[in-house]
Parts: sequence; structure tokens; C-alpha cells
Amino acid sequence: MRCGFYPGSFDPPTLGHFDIMNRGLALFDRLVVAIGVHPSKTPMFTEAERVAMLKEELDRLGAAARCEVILFRGLTVDAARENGAQFILRGIRDAADFGYEAQLFGMNRNMAPDIETVFLAASPGTAHITATLVRQIASLGGNVSSFVSPAVLQRIKDKLCFK
Ligand code: ADP
Repeated sequence: MRCGFYPGSFDPPTLGHFDIMNRGLALFDRLVVAIGVHPSKTPMFTEAERVAMLKEELDRLGAAARCEVILFRGLTVDAARENGAQFILRGIRDAADFGYEAQLFGMNRNMAPDIETVFLAASPGTAHITATLVRQIASLGGNVSSFVSPAVLQRIKDKLCFK
């Protein structure tokens, strides 16, 4: 049973995240989508809202039976192990992501040699999408409909009180 652990902030989940999740599901028998909780950060969406958005999309992908959405605090490697995952799944958009991810990989590998990291290159159609820019563009009144799913778009509109 191959289990992947996909950590992130998912604030909000974007089409880039869903692309990585979908492709991860082809690699693993089970996928744990894990929302990292950082008490010092003020997210746009609450933990419960992010869990709900991720679950909705996994349902839509017909993958709910093979997936779990969880919240975690502390080290990714500890949370991966506690959830029975042998693999950490990460997406790489560009050289900046690669540099950062290579450092994370090195540290995680050192702390947990038994856990492998699997990197997927972002798909060309979604490689430009970052949740940070989605939040910024939406809060400035921009149209983010090509970066998120219709359900997430609706939640952004509700949050920002747009029509
Ligand atoms: P972001 O970096 O957009 O704020 P997260 O911190 O939630 O999002 O990212 C979680 C994981 O998803 C990371 O491995 C990140 O590189 C990956 N990821 C984020 N956006 C994309 C994308 N557009 N394509 C591929 N992977 C992505």
C-alpha cells in the first residue's frame, strides 16, 4: 500500500494543487492531503473552510475513498509518518520552487531517511498559479476564475462579498 502525503497551505486550493493531487492519485494507493497550520499566519480561509474545499474537489474527482484531508502542526516528516505515508508529494513550478524544495528535501531526508520525496513538475497549463497571487488578485477585485475551481471561486466571492 503506497501512501503519499501532500502538505501545503492550500489558502485557497488552486488548479495547480488539484493537478498535483490528481497526478499523485495515479502514483499512490492512498493520498493524505495535509493542511499545515501556522498559528502566526493569518490565512484568508479558516482551517475548516480549506478542509471543506479540498474534500469537495476530491469528491468531484471521484477520489474521496482513497484520500484523506487532515490538519497538521509540527514537522512534515513526523506528520507523514504518523499518517502511515512513505512518500511526501511536492509540486515544482520553477527554479525558485526547485531551490527551496531541494533544501527541504535535504533536511527532511536527514531527519527521516525512511521517507522519500516525490516531486512532480507543474503542468504547463497551471505552472504559473500561486495561492498567494490568487489571494492578492482576488482582494484587488481581479478575476481569478482561470486559477481556481468554480466551487473555490464561489467561496472567494462569498468571502470578499463580491457578486
Ligand atoms: P502556494 O505555494 O501556491 O502558496 P502551497 O504552499 O499550498 O501553495 O503549496 C503546496 C505544494 O503545492 C508545494 O509543493 C507547491 O510547490 C505546490 N504547488 C503550488 N501551486 C502549484 C502549481 N501551480 N503547480 C504545481 N505545484 C504547485
